[in-house]
Amino acid sequence: MKKERTMNAASGVSRRQFLIGAGLAGLGAAGAGLAGCAPSGQAGAAAGKGTDTASAASAGGAADSASLANNPLGANAAVEWTFMTPPADIPADQITGTEDVDVLVVGCGFAGAIASVAAAQAGAKTLCIEKCTTYSGRGGHITAYGSKIVKQYVEEGWFKEADYAHIVRRLTEWATGRVKEPLLWQFAKKSGACMDWLVDLVADSGLQPTLWAGYYKGPDYTEEPITHFFYDDTTDFVYLDGVSKGLGMAVLIPAVIEQGEKLGVEYRYETPCARLLRDGDGPVTGAIVGDEGSYQQINAKSVIVATGDYLDDDEMRTRYQPFTWHADSRLYIPFGISTGDLHKQAMWIGGAMQPSEPHCATIHLESGAQSYNFLHVNKNGERFMNEDVNTQSKSCVKSYQPEGKAFTIYDANSLESFAQSCNDGISGGISSDQQYRRFGVPFDMDVELKLRQAKIDQGLLFQADTLDELAEKAGIDAAGLKATVARYNELAAKGNDDDFGKRPEILWPIDTPPYFAGQLVSTLLAASGGLRQDTACHILDEENNPIEGLYVCGAAGGEYFSNDYPTICPGTNHGRCLTFGRIAGINAAGGDAEKEIADLDITSAMMPEANRVNTVTASA
Ligand SMILES: Cc1cc2nc3c(=O)[nH]c(=O)nc-3n(C[C@H](O)[C@H](O)[C@H](O)COP(=O)(O)OP(=O)(O)OC[C@H]3O[C@@H](n4cnc5c(N)ncnc54)[C@H](O)[C@@H]3O)c2cc1C
Repeated sequence: MKKERTMNAASGVSRRQFLIGAGLAGLGAAGAGLAGCAPSGQAGAAAGKGTDTASAASAGGAADSASLANNPLGANAAVEWTFMTPPADIPADQITGTEDVDVLVVGCGFAGAIASVAAAQAGAKTLCIEKCTTYSGRGGHITAYGSKIVKQYVEEGWFKEADYAHIVRRLTEWATGRVKEPLLWQFAKKSGACMDWLVDLVADSGLQPTLWAGYYKGPDYTEEPITHFFYDDTTDFVYLDGVSKGLGMAVLIPAVIEQGEKLGVEYRYETPCARLLRDGDGPVTGAIVGDEGSYQQINAKSVIVATGDYLDDDEMRTRYQPFTWHADSRLYIPFGISTGDLHKQAMWIGGAMQPSEPHCATIHLESGAQSYNFLHVNKNGERFMNEDVNTQSKSCVKSYQPEGKAFTIYDANSLESFAQSCNDGISGGISSDQQYRRFGVPFDMDVELKLRQAKIDQGLLFQADTLDELAEKAGIDAAGLKATVARYNELAAKGNDDDFGKRPEILWPIDTPPYFAGQLVSTLLAASGGLRQDTACHILDEENNPIEGLYVCGAAGGEYFSNDYPTICPGTNHGRCLTFGRIAGINAAGGDAEKEIADLDITSAMMPEANRVNTVTASA
């Protein structure tokens, strides 16, 4: 039996983090003394008081700004977070049995389901353990570049193929450069082939693969037509509050697992991973799984971490994504599973978190409240933005309004106008055009009215015959709302949005009762930051060395995003599960994903003349 690596304060990342915290506190005191600029006793008082969260948890008290200036991790790094401290080893006498496999996949969401199938296809004896009673999944959009389906739609003339090199550049720009660009290129090259593989894998399941037609098509922000989803003939396209029937992950993951079972994968539920096992500083050798009193040791040649994100661990959320506390609600099905167990376990044996911070979170407006590109006001009735922006940005901007509240305002004609603009290909977008609209299928007003009724029943959408009545029902200042609507109608009549520059073709007047006010609810869906990884899906240590035998895929992986979730490619979270899940599965099984997954040819297009600005015209 391989010995469980003993983690103590002298090894692994927790030691490093501890040192950063302690060092900062020390530096802070020294810095204040050297500069002689801190009020007498400040450093000591701060360290001594220790009453706020940071200093209470900190190794040596709060760090001052001088020390933080030298600290790449920011103020958060000064705190010794409890999750960084490895728990005591599990005593050998509590381990009631051992078992040998080639590949152990931890977590059975989309990423784990994909990784387990890929490992089994590569010939590995594969066990996939899951702490819940069954697999988990949600939503359904999956990004893949240049898949056969995309190429087919391009050939049929639905759209021009995206410029994938340019997408990578824009994703990098959205993250203000804080990404590992080779990972973005790996995805760009491999995701199409992985989607083709998935389509073939579930071909016998009765699922229909298709592309989402509802991406944004205006000029102000870009979403690309590269979003796939699967559905069956029982589909109910009324997609409310993340619940789908016959659609997306609810049908796709079981179909993937069915194929995994045929290949001999064992899916073992109600089996939490408690510790990763590592041979000193050498390879990972397996895991201890199960609960106290019934632990089992699984010896494995490779372990794949596919345990999703950590947003249900408040401390980790505060550490890596403090902005997420602005979100109005949290939606992840099932609730409470994303506790970052394997982020912690990987860090306890030497794995590192991505270096760029803050991590990015997927925060979207709840669909159904019909925010769309209608007029948005805060509770004072004031307009505060160009409403023609992506749902992620709206969710963020909204949180800075008084009480964090904002409403979308529209009238009896607006939904028809919006539907028409989607059908005409000038609107659209995530949480805007219908979530699962297919090419050739018009905007479905029946679906829309069902969503509206559901939101009225939930008390999030209000209807009234006058603006005064609407304001009262929604809790908006009536005078402010009436003044703003009058101004908005003036701009619509003029055909120019002097105030916020919204496109004239979507400036629809609000003058026909009944009027509607939908409360914008920003919903925290997922964290999109995590463990440091390379393009082969190894988990890396603090020195960026791969940890032998330890892989990551899906939301648990990091370095692909930073700061804010880019909506350029709707469905990238799932896209990463598919592409990096397959890469991790093949490599963990001893294969070579680099060779086995074909690369997409990506041509860096010449910039069209019309897109060039500020060019110098040669003088005659
Ligand atoms: C309503 C909603 C809709 C969404 N729609 C989309 C969409 O359309 N497109 C998109 O790209 N993204 C979408 N997302 C985000 C997306 O669902 C996630 O990013 C993605 O599901 C992550 O998949 P995963 O397999 O990495 O993790 P998960 O699906 O979270 O799976 C991880 C699994 O690991 C298990 N686990 C955790 N710890 C342990 C442990 N210690 N031992 C054993 N098992 C463990 C968990 O129980 C879980 O089942 C949506 C999110 C929400 C909430």
